[in-house]
This record gives sequence, structure tokens and C-alpha cells, in this order.
Amino acid sequence: MNSSQSKATVAFIGLGQMGAPMARNLMRAGYTVRGHDRDVRIAAQFSDCQDFIWCDSAAIAVQGVERLILMLPDSRVVDAVLWHGEPALSALMAPGALVIDMSSSDPIHSRENAQKLKMISRGFIDAPVSGGVKKAEAGTLTIMIGGDADLVERAQPLLQAMGKTTTHVGDAGAGHAVKALNNYVSAAGLLAVCEALSAAEKFGIDPHLVNQVFNASTGKNNTTENKVEAFMLNGAFNSGFSLALMKKDLETANRFMGQVKSMREFSSQCLGIWKAADDVLDKGSDHTVMLRYIRDA
Ligand code: NAD
Repeated sequence: MNSSQSKATVAFIGLGQMGAPMARNLMRAGYTVRGHDRDVRIAAQFSDCQDFIWCDSAAIAVQGVERLILMLPDSRVVDAVLWHGEPALSALMAPGALVIDMSSSDPIHSRENAQKLKMISRGFIDAPVSGGVKKAEAGTLTIMIGGDADLVERAQPLLQAMGKTTTHVGDAGAGHAVKALNNYVSAAGLLAVCEALSAAEKFGIDPHLVNQVFNASTGKNNTTENKVEAFMLNGAFNSGFSLALMKKDLETANRFMGQVKSMREFSSQCLGIWKAADDVLDKGSDHTVMLRYIRDA
């Protein structure tokens, strides 16, 4: 592979709800994607894409590439792929190659990953996303980035193909910290809306009207604006973001707040409720099912 080819070729591991549309936007922007997911059924989704090369393993996907994007469930999986695979990707990637972890990973792990990769002359930035499946499809994600400025600059053309707002928030791990804290704020807001709608319904008030009033008042938030009518009151519960992943993000945020010795009582209460819901709801439930859980409680 010559250098102009390798510049336009990216390895992408984790082609789930978010990763698949993100990879498609990279191809729309002119990149060739060497993609891998452990779920082999995903290969068929890309059978119509000329610029997509399905790779049977992560090790094959990173061959000859200078940039690797990870869109995996969590840090445990990211670490397994980078350090504990047979063989580990960190060793397989060429010196100077850049790992871009776009998963919602743990900030402390990410800082360690950046340090460990630097010691073997590979770069690392964290670039998690916010916006959900719709914005992943539209290429309008919000991306928060942590890492050395030169590495962030190198990744910008790729990130701009997937996101509308890219903000460099600090050193490695800072992007993942902001992402986890954002999802804590989002999950706390969703929980408050579910409790409020449920109480209003019990008093005989139409929840559609309640949400309409919230949206014209100070109670407005992302849930009232984008989720209540689209995914919750209609019983669809299909936003594309699982309850298990939201619980994982809350665990990350709560652990992080403890690690930096910041007050986290409200965060702990909030996490407790999401954990209790995750224990009883069907595996794979969407996070918006929280409304049904609160109604039935
Ligand atoms: P997903 O479960 O749909 O996708 C994850 C993919 O990773 C799956 O296809 C799975 O098969 C694959 N995978 C798991 N282990 C693997 C391994 N060892 N090797 C290769 N592939 C492996 O999840 P998602 O909703 O796409 O979320 C991905 C990340 O993005 C998560 O960290 C999530 O918290 C975050 N996120 C999701 C949303 C959303 O709305 N869904 C929004 C923002 C951020």
C-alpha cells in the first residue's frame, strides 16, 4: 500500500448501532474503510459499499493503516482489543499509527492507554460522541476530544466527516470524562421527566399536555424535546441507545466523580435507579423504557 492510499484508508472496529452509520459517513467523505465487528452478520449491511473492506478479524483490519477507530461497548472491550488480543492490536499497528477511541470508555483507562501507546510510539486520542443514531446517520454528532494537540489535529478531517461539532476539551481521557458526565446529566434529566410524567398521569393529567408545557417552560430538556413524543409516550421505546449502555455510562461517571473526589450523592441515587431497572427489564431494552419502569413501580 502506498502512502496516499494509506492516508485515505481507515480501520473501523465496532460496527453496531452507531459504528455502522459513522463508517458510512467516512466512506461518503472519500475514505476507504477496513471494517471489523465480532458479529459477522454485520458484513451483509455493507455488501453494497465499494469503499468497504470487511475483515474477518481486527488484526486483518489494521494491516497497513495509519488510523484505527474503535466504536466498542466499553473500556473492557477496548482494552481487550488493544492489549489482550491474540495478537494485540497495539503491537500490530505500525509505529506512528493513531488509535481514535470513539466508544464511551472510562477516562482513567483512556489516559493509561494514551501513556502506554506513547511508550511504544503509537498515538491515542479519545473522541466519544453524543447525539444518538439519528445524528450518527446525519453526520452531525457532537464529538468531545481528549489528547495531544498534534494528534487531535491529525484526526480532525476524519472526525469532521462524522460530526458537526468537534471540541478539544483537554488531555487524553478528558473527552471520555466529559462524555460520561454529559450522559449523567442526560440520564438524570430523563429520570426526572419519567417521574414527573408518571405523577401527572396518576393525577389525571394528559402526559402529552404536560410535556408540551414543559417544552414551553423551564422544565424543558433533551428528553422532553427529543424523546418523550418520539420514543416514549407512543410506546415505541426504540431510540437506538440501550438501557445497559446508559447504565454503563452512569457507572463510569459515578466512578470518575469518586476518583477525582467530587461530591456524587445525586449521581449515586440516579445510578441506583438505572441499575434496578436494568436488573428487571429485558436484556437489550432501550433506555427510554425507563418511563414504563417508573409507571409500573
Ligand atoms: P452496539 O452494541 O450497537 O455496538 C457495539 C458493537 O461492538 C457491536 O456490533 C458488537 O458486536 C461489537 N463488538 C463488541 N465486542 C467486540 C469485539 N471484541 N471485537 C469486535 N467487535 C465487537 O452499541 P452502540 O449503540 O453502537 O454503542 C457503541 C458505543 O457508543 C458505546 O460505548 C456507547 O455507549 C456509545 N454511544 C452510543 C450511542 C447510541 O445512541 N447508541 C450514543 C452515543 C454513544
